[in-house]
Amino acid sequence: MPHRRAAAVVRFSSLGDVLLAAHVPGYLKEEDSSRRVLFVTKERYADLLRGHPHVDRVYAVRERHGAQPSATSCVSGSLRDMIQAMRGDGVEEILDLHQNWRSSRILAGFPNVKHRLPPKYALRRRLMVYARWLRPAPVPPLLRTYRGLCGLDPAGASDPWLRRALSDRELERGAAKAGGALPGGFVLMGVGARWETKRWPASHFVALADRIERERGLTSLYAVSPGERAAAELAPLLSGRGMALTLPFRELAAVAAHARAVVSNDSAVLHLGPAVGIPVVGVFGGTVPQFGFARQGPLDDVAEIELGCRPCGVHGRSRCPLGHHACMRRLEPDRAFQVLAGVLDRANGGRSTAVSRA
Ligand code: SF4
Repeated sequence: MPHRRAAAVVRFSSLGDVLLAAHVPGYLKEEDSSRRVLFVTKERYADLLRGHPHVDRVYAVRERHGAQPSATSCVSGSLRDMIQAMRGDGVEEILDLHQNWRSSRILAGFPNVKHRLPPKYALRRRLMVYARWLRPAPVPPLLRTYRGLCGLDPAGASDPWLRRALSDRELERGAAKAGGALPGGFVLMGVGARWETKRWPASHFVALADRIERERGLTSLYAVSPGERAAAELAPLLSGRGMALTLPFRELAAVAAHARAVVSNDSAVLHLGPAVGIPVVGVFGGTVPQFGFARQGPLDDVAEIELGCRPCGVHGRSRCPLGHHACMRRLEPDRAFQVLAGVLDRANGGRSTAVSRA
């Protein structure tokens, strides 16, 4: 049976990058609604894409180590299997959003189809870290780059694909997990991060949550991964104030879909905002928003302080090279509150949502 022509989007990892790359199928359908869109990723991320409104088929590359069985009806197998299967699926263009040796093999398997590659900006980010006296221009927010790659106005809107991918049942379960925080509204805090230099202290998150509750009447829920250092730091600070959620990421997204906003370190939780259609405040320390991973949505904003040593790494570091981690320690919860308050007010049409507590 002849296939309709298809475009394949390639992004294997990591979680945050896949969340952002998964906006591209929507852009491709906006460019040409008649084309099919395939998404090629690692098997561990296939379930996140289940029910994606703009993806016609997921190709999940099996991993040698640590692979998790996929719950989706996607095509899975080795990279070679994927290339074979894609050959029978009408692929006539490939958008390589990863640009590594693996994605190069896919491109090499389709020498006669159109290849679209976004600028990688790796050199510019390195210059920002190691040669900032050259004053490299900021990298635009990644979703703007992706829209431009698809021939669209970079400033246009993004569809909250993950909210639409979640079933009603998943959203109901997400609401149930938010529990008592749901009726009055809540903010989701992304407390964790893989790299130490990207982590705002857990005590600052809790102080921010106290002020949000006091002045805005909103509860806070904390997203942490099992075994993460942030989880251990958070537990003694909470003592009944807010709730820590250690959930699989899709379940966390179903909770986030009910939140008023996300406040997060520069990690995957930050990218839940545009995926579920809520504003986010990114908390930046050892990395900077000028790398292109912040302010993806029109209401999104950033909490940070100016410091001569920022940024000190392209991806983050396992410890502060200067030992004091001032970029995060000195970033006061009050500063983050001012930024979040502005975001909440803009989301509310410019009206303040402040509450007065006796
Ligand atoms: S204080 Fe400076 S050197 Fe230390 S982690 Fe932050 S940006 Fe890097």
